[in-house]
Amino acid sequence: MTGKNIDPYVELICTHCDFYTEGEDEELECAGFRILKTMLDEGTISPEEIKNVRI
Ligand code: SF4
Repeated sequence: MTGKNIDPYVELICTHCDFYTEGEDEELECAGFRILKTMLDEGTISPEEIKNVRI
């Protein structure tokens, strides 16, 4: 737990991204974020599968 009020999708997806800046209030969502968010919502992939990704 980070202790910060961070969107769980941002924590799962964006923290892997070079464009992510902690604390920045991101209003736009890239296509990759939207695709992964949809796949998580539909159960196609699990949060654990994203957590374990090394890029
Ligand atoms: S929305 Fe997309 S480009 Fe922006 S930080 Fe998240 S993954 Fe990176």
